Amino acid sequence: MVLKKSVSILGSTGSIGTNTIDLIHRNPNKFRTVALTGNSNIQLLAEQARELNPEFVAVANEANYQSLKDALADTDIEVGAGENAIIEAALRDAEWVMASIVGSAGLAPTLKAIERGATIGLANKESLVCAGELMMQAVATHKATLLPVDSEHNAIFQVLDRQNAKAVDKIILTASGGPFRTFSIEDMCKVSPKEAVAHPNWSMGAKISVDSASMMNKGLELIEAYHLFPVDESQIDILVHPQSVVHSMVSYIDGSVLAQMGTPDMRTPIAYALAWPERMIAPSAKLDLSEIAQLNFEEPDPVRFPALRLAREALKFGKSAPAVLNAANEESVGAFLKEKIGFCDITAIVEEVLSRFDHQEITHIDDILATDKKARICALQAIEKRSR
Ligand code: NAD
Ligand code: MG
Repeated sequence: MVLKKSVSILGSTGSIGTNTIDLIHRNPNKFRTVALTGNSNIQLLAEQARELNPEFVAVANEANYQSLKDALADTDIEVGAGENAIIEAALRDAEWVMASIVGSAGLAPTLKAIERGATIGLANKESLVCAGELMMQAVATHKATLLPVDSEHNAIFQVLDRQNAKAVDKIILTASGGPFRTFSIEDMCKVSPKEAVAHPNWSMGAKISVDSASMMNKGLELIEAYHLFPVDESQIDILVHPQSVVHSMVSYIDGSVLAQMGTPDMRTPIAYALAWPERMIAPSAKLDLSEIAQLNFEEPDPVRFPALRLAREALKFGKSAPAVLNAANEESVGAFLKEKIGFCDITAIVEEVLSRFDHQEITHIDDILATDKKARICALQAIEKRSR
């Protein structure tokens, strides 16, 4: 009998979480669920728990504890609530953990799973943006395995010759360009949250959809790639590719360029991480290049998409700058989604907060959490000033 892989999903109710569960459902003999976590969608979380029968289910928002407890009253599944319960879920003994909480809220639980040497499917890019050095050090110290789920980084992971890092010339991150790729600045500043969330190729959570529209997503991914792979900041290029078929590329010193391709369906990179070091069948549509017929590539426009410059500057500056960039962005995206500020205010506020900050060295996760808090307060002030 083949032993089932034990898995936990942090952020199981989100877009990545539900796609992960879809794959687990299709392979009931391969996986056993240990813990699930959510935040507000209690009905879905309870449904998932009933289907997968984990040991433990946690909800971040304590106000939702009783309704989750009631929904699972006739089961023997343990229920917890609050930040500590999410940490406990990460600490439960699963071999494989999907880190798919959105935002810096995912940092502490992801670190806990790393510290017990688990294999992590990392979707939560914000944790690497905020605490890249600390996280990669923890991975090495605790012999954890970090498998990138973000499609670009998963692509690079698949085609990077790790034995021969000196032979790598560049990493080329592809970007769809988002729904406003061809918009003028004037038109972009007028868009509604609904338009920003409607991504042309991918179906994703609201925050990352807005990040894709502003291209801050690619900025965060630049910082993510820097931490995951053995390259300098200057070796990471960004290339707009509207079809989202080439998920990213590695260019080698001999002129070879290796790409990973596929239809835009997150179940492919999630399946890669779930099955690693093997492979498993995923239900994603098969790539038909003759039907697509054309693949286009163009340089990103730094004027209409200042997020790329801001992220590169924060990465070059180092210290607490990437954590400040991330926190200011999270707050601004939240305010845009609530229609408090306009779309172009998002990057303007990030730039303002970054420039107002006295960036500190980071030596401990507490430094990151303190920076995150301070930067959010600073961003909220800037949001108030611009509020409609
Ligand atoms: P989502 O909004 O659909 O889901 C987020 C999950 O996090 C939910 O389960 C929610 O309950 C949980 N959550 C929210 N706030 C929380 C908090 N304060 N504490 C604990 N849990 C909380 O987001 P998503 O699109 O699934 O994205 C998740 C992560 O994966 C993000 O970091 C995103 O950048 C990354 N990612 C997503 C995609 C995608 O296709 N959706 C692709 C690449 C990377
Ligand atoms: Mg991505």
